[in-house]
Amino acid sequence: MSKITVSKPYLDVKERKAVMEVLKSGMLAQGPKVAELEKRFAEKVGTKYCVALNSGTAALHAGLYGLGIGSGDEVITTPFTFVASANPAIMLGAKPIFVDVDEKTFNIDPTKIEEKITSKTKAILPIHLYGLCCDMDLINAIAKKHNLVVLEDACQSHNAKYKDKFAGNLGNAGAFSLYATKNMMSGEGGLLTTNSEEVMERAKRFRQHGMQQSGDYAYVDLGYNYRLTDVLASIALVQLDRLDKFTQKRQKNAKYLLKNLKGIKGLILPVVEEGHEPCWHQFTIRITSEFPMNRDTFVAKLKEQEIFPGIYYPKPLHLHPQFQKLGYKEGDFPVSEKLAKEVVSLPVHPLLKKEDLIKVVSTIKRLGE
Ligand SMILES: *Cc1c(COP(=O)(O)O)cnc(C)c1O
Repeated sequence: MSKITVSKPYLDVKERKAVMEVLKSGMLAQGPKVAELEKRFAEKVGTKYCVALNSGTAALHAGLYGLGIGSGDEVITTPFTFVASANPAIMLGAKPIFVDVDEKTFNIDPTKIEEKITSKTKAILPIHLYGLCCDMDLINAIAKKHNLVVLEDACQSHNAKYKDKFAGNLGNAGAFSLYATKNMMSGEGGLLTTNSEEVMERAKRFRQHGMQQSGDYAYVDLGYNYRLTDVLASIALVQLDRLDKFTQKRQKNAKYLLKNLKGIKGLILPVVEEGHEPCWHQFTIRITSEFPMNRDTFVAKLKEQEIFPGIYYPKPLHLHPQFQKLGYKEGDFPVSEKLAKEVVSLPVHPLLKKEDLIKVVSTIKRLGE
């Protein structure tokens, strides 16, 4: 019996060949492959520019820096996410201001944003969680009204669409991750997309020790070594070629799960509203109190059957010591706290076989009886 896991990397002879070519070229650091990846990813997303970095975290950090976020500023985001959505603001001396999520979408609740805006608020950082875009029309309207910038955390949403535009082209800039479990990956890596020449130039400077782009060793500001390597860019380029096909497979798998898991008492399926085309980084269901067993027992039962789901995320950020230092406490974000106890991400990746999906469905149906 083979294990059905929540994610599975796909790499074959094409990636190996691409890496070997870079090794043979002798140029392993940031070079022509990184430049090619930047060009092709910007074309894919539909933005004028893309800056490659060595992680999604670095892309968020460089994105906030590029947008001019600094000491004392406030950045609005949610606590129901991976830690890397919130830490980059802190790295710049700014403060993440959490807003609770909408339980239907798992994304920031736009109706709760305005009450958190102060004279210090500079940016909104919406996270397209699990590959479903946020309600960007509402978020952009709020940003415009209050003169704020918008950085999309698109780390889980390569190829996700909102009203016919791709994630990463829905705000002032978008940050993607190329971490091993993402829909398009190179092990580690990040990409920042933007239509702003200024943001692009600032991010490039930030990537290379704050050095002026003309390259004459003039250090105009603090920067880091956030460069991606050509070795990794060559893998990401092959993965970019595969992205459409893999996204379609995820969408097909999600459709199957949505159809076949309908009507189970106490099990809430993901909701896709009009205008959204998710890329299904995760397929996340909720196991509520009406289900015959609690979430943790449900997960244990699936594991007994060699099905290994994921829990993203078991605890919202505001309940961790790192964010309690900022004054957050239990009860501050009740929707996030409830979801953290209910969510289970089922396997939806493109390498699943029909028999895997059938087994996942039949096992869950049996547990729900
Ligand atoms: C993966 C991820 C990141 C960070 O990406 P890394 O490449 O691991 O640094 C940030 N935000 C979200 C929502 C992610 O899923």
